[in-house]
Order: sequence, then structure tokens, then C-alpha cells
Amino acid sequence: MIAKKEIIKLLKLTASLMEIHGENEFKTRVYTNASFNLDRYEGEIAKLSKEELEKIDGLGKSMVGSIQQIIEKGTFDKLEDLLSKTPEGVLDIMDIKGLGAKKVRVLWKDLNITTLEDLKTACETNQIAAIKGFGQKTQENILSEINYILANKSKLLYSDAENLAEQIGKVVTENNSDILFSVAGEVRRKMEIVDMLSFVIGTDDIPEVYNGLNKIGSLHHQKENSGPLNWRGVLNDRGTKVEFVLCQKDRFYNKLILHTGSEMHLANAIYEGDNLFSITGSDKLKSEQSAYEKLSMQFVEPELREGWFEIEMAKENTLPELVQFGDLKGTLHNHSTYSDGKNSLREMAEKCIELNYEYLGISDHSQSAFYANGLIEFEIKKQHEEIDLLNEELAPRLSGGRAFKIFKGIESDILNDGSLDYSDDVLGSFDFIVASVHSNLNMDISKATHRLLTAIKNPYTTILGHSTGRLLLRREGYPIDHKAIIEACAEHDVIIEINANPWRLDLDWRWVHYAIEAGITLSVNPDAHETEGFKDMYYGIQVGRKGGLTKEKTFNCRSLKEIEYYFKSKKEKKINDK
Ligand SMILES: [Zn+2]
Ligand SMILES: [Zn+2]
Repeated sequence: MIAKKEIIKLLKLTASLMEIHGENEFKTRVYTNASFNLDRYEGEIAKLSKEELEKIDGLGKSMVGSIQQIIEKGTFDKLEDLLSKTPEGVLDIMDIKGLGAKKVRVLWKDLNITTLEDLKTACETNQIAAIKGFGQKTQENILSEINYILANKSKLLYSDAENLAEQIGKVVTENNSDILFSVAGEVRRKMEIVDMLSFVIGTDDIPEVYNGLNKIGSLHHQKENSGPLNWRGVLNDRGTKVEFVLCQKDRFYNKLILHTGSEMHLANAIYEGDNLFSITGSDKLKSEQSAYEKLSMQFVEPELREGWFEIEMAKENTLPELVQFGDLKGTLHNHSTYSDGKNSLREMAEKCIELNYEYLGISDHSQSAFYANGLIEFEIKKQHEEIDLLNEELAPRLSGGRAFKIFKGIESDILNDGSLDYSDDVLGSFDFIVASVHSNLNMDISKATHRLLTAIKNPYTTILGHSTGRLLLRREGYPIDHKAIIEACAEHDVIIEINANPWRLDLDWRWVHYAIEAGITLSVNPDAHETEGFKDMYYGIQVGRKGGLTKEKTFNCRSLKEIEYYFKSKKEKKINDK
């Protein structure tokens, strides 16, 4: 079912495109108004009949027809027509922040700019600043955004990279029955952003396998960058780099070690003058394990091979057993239709039960987040009543005395001065509070850090949500003093979230080990806006593992009873402190 948000997005896009194509202003406004009216409508648009749609303020007959098309097909005739008349590059230009339809029209129609590359050149040659209505500042902003977009164009989120690597792996192993095969490089190390997909193949017929790689439809071979033992090329549609390292079967584990660990890891894993470079250069390894044994070290999981803390620990035999997806017992930080989620509270709860989780923490948006339909006090009351009823109904239905509970939470906006978004009375009515920043993301490091520190010191804060606000490959997070934040969380007994949405993965894995050392517990939170979102916790687990996270240090690996006890004692402590 298409969400209201999506429908509104398409109508707004239509209005922008009409403006860019210079269509009648009055006609354009019909689409802007319709999106405004839909936004004010409470409830799911996609469930409405034609008659019900016609009753919504300001929607004419033809608009209702368009909306029905969107509900059915995800698009509609007018929009398709406009898209077919618009160069793809102009759509890319429309994505640049701060460039409205008027400016995009000027760039396209007056300057004939139809790609990001054209626009970049125009900025660099100072043509944009000179245009009426643009100016120096706008030109600088456009240029820095284009540079960011172009630099990231061929990069992949971990979730996509893992998926693509799996697909390629399937084709290669199906085409070649007698090979040793593994994903290597950044994907094997579970990097949050992947620059290159890399693989290692052990075979006794290198030329045959090599030629077979040329026939994979999704890949483009770059002969000029390749060698007889290194097939290099790119993904056809994205331009992402791809590399296959080929070797004789008896060198497979040597190559796998070399093409998995970072250079720091390979160089710094030292024992009696040897390191992983020298070992893989001389002996034929029977397994990866044997390389570490030769260096008198514990086996190091691929995702830890960065050359940071893992080498010391492997030498001292103190590497922890890393948390696994199956260790999770429940999920906190999730949204429902009360704010901007796609599924109802009941649907979210039933999905959790189906997934064998013991609890669901619901934390819809708070009142300041008006764009996400944040909850005002009256709606909180209503939601709490529904949670009580569902808790009475759902758990007793389960067989074998299985427990299940919905916890009452909120994702409270952290306001500019660091305060939370409700009065203490309202804050006190929740089981737990995820405190997150959603607005004014441009603060400098000292202001942004101070803002978070104030929120962390608030006795009602249970979990610090997506701590930097970053969206990978889309926007940098605001800068914060991670050490100060982590230490404050330790002092005030605040859990830090690893937001598991593949676009966020925030807390960054580079700070996970530091947080654990500081005594912090981390919660792997999907920030699910629909039932499908729960499975994102998988990516949060990968990031946690990369930072050395264990089951014991993962908050939502605790049982329902333990979580219940934690929330309760935190609440009692607040009352005692008052
Ligand atoms: Zn959030
Ligand atoms: Zn959220």
C-alpha cells in the first residue's frame, strides 16, 4: 500500500516539473494545493474509495482520478508525460538543496545545463554567480553539493553492496562448480559504505574462469585496468568498481587474508618479525585460522580486521564473542501510524510476535516534529490506552507461557537548547524515551555537543537516538565531540543507540569499542516505520560486531523481564532524585 507521504511527494514533483516546463501557474497550483490538503487529511489515503476521496477538501474530479492512478500504479499519466520530456540530469539537478523549480528552469532553458557535470563546470567558471537571483553564496552551495553527490555516485551502502555481492557470487559459483570462492574487501569487513566489490577465486583453470567473468551481464570489464590474475571492471548501472582476484586453489587462503584485512591490520599483526604480509607471501595456508596461529594470535573475525584494537586483543587472547542477529530479544525505537509510520500499532506488535520477539518499544515522534505528525498530549493518552488494551489481549494468546509486551515510548525531539519536547509530567508517563535531534542540523561542534549533553543529563532520557543525524551518501552528520558524549552517557546511565537503518548506522562503528570500554550499553534499534523495517536490525548488528559489540553489551539482547526491571528502576531513581 502506498503511503500518504509518497502520494504527496509525487504530486509535489508534478507541480515542480510543471513549473520547470513553464506551464500555467494556475494549473500548477492545483497540484500544490492537493498535496497540501492531503497532508492535512488524517488517515491512510490509499484505503479510500473514489467517493471518499472526492469528499476531501479541494480535490476535484480529475485530481481524484490521478490519485487513484497513483494508488494503483505508483504513478499517473500527467507525471509520466512530464518525466518523459525531462532529461534525467535535470532531475538530478532538482535534488540539489536550495534550488527551487524557478532556478532549475533558468539553468536548463537559459543556460542549457542538463547534467550535474555541466552545472559543476558552470559553477567553477563563475557563470552561476552572475545570474540574476543566484549570487556567489548560491554558487558555492551548489558546487559543494555537486562535489558531494559526484564523489559518492558510484559508492554503495553496505546493505546494497552485500546484496549485489551475493548476486554476483551466485552467478560465479553456478558457472564454475570446481572453485573456491569468497567475497572479500570492504563488504567482508562490513564497511558502512563500499567503494569496490571484491572477490577472491581459487581455481586450477584460471584462464577459463577469467573468461567466464567477461560474460556476466551486470559487469563491464576494464581490460586496461586488469591483469592476468586480477579481473577489474565496474557495475554496469552504477559504475561501482568490481575486482576478482584469481589464484591457484592452494593459494586461496593467502589471497583471502590479503584482500580482506585493511593494510594496518595486515602490517600490524606481528609476531617474531613476521606479519600477515610476510606469512601470506611465503607459506601455502590451509585456512585463515592457520595464519593467525602462526602469529600466535586468536582468529580475528573479518569485520574486525581494521588494525585498531583487535590486534592487541587477539594477542592477549581476549577477543570477545561478537553479538549475533539471533541474540536479539526485542526491538525498541519504532514508529506506528500514530506519527509517520506505515503500519498500525497492532500490526507492528503482531509482526514482532511473529518474529519471536519478546517486546516492542514504540516511540513515535514528539510534538515538535509536525512534519512527521508528532504526537500531542491527547494522542499520547490515546496511544497509551491502546497499548494497555493490546498488552491485555496479545500476550495471553501466546502458547507455552510466552511473554510479550509493548513498551510505551516516544522519540522526543531534542530542541535547540537541549531540552526535551514535553513537560516532566508527560515525559514521566512513558516507559522509555529515545532522545533525538531532527532539526537545525547545522550547529557547530561546540553547540551541537552542548545540545546533546543537555539532553543526556535530562533524567528522562533513556536512549540517545541516531547521535550525529547523518544520512550516508546523502548528508554528513552534525559534528559532535564523541568522547564527551560517550562519557556523559556513561555518567548518566544513558544507552546509546546504533540506529540500524542502512542510511544511518549511527553510532558509527568507529566509536562502538570506545563506548563499550566506557561501560556503555548499546541498543540496536531499527527505527522501523513499517513492519518490514524490523529486519534492518541485521545491519545494526553488523555495525556493532565491527566495533566489537557483544551480546552482553547489547541492550535489546536482554529479556523482557530484564528490560522491564531496567525501565522501572530508572523511573524510581528519577522519583527519588526529585
Ligand atoms: Zn529519528
Ligand atoms: Zn525514529
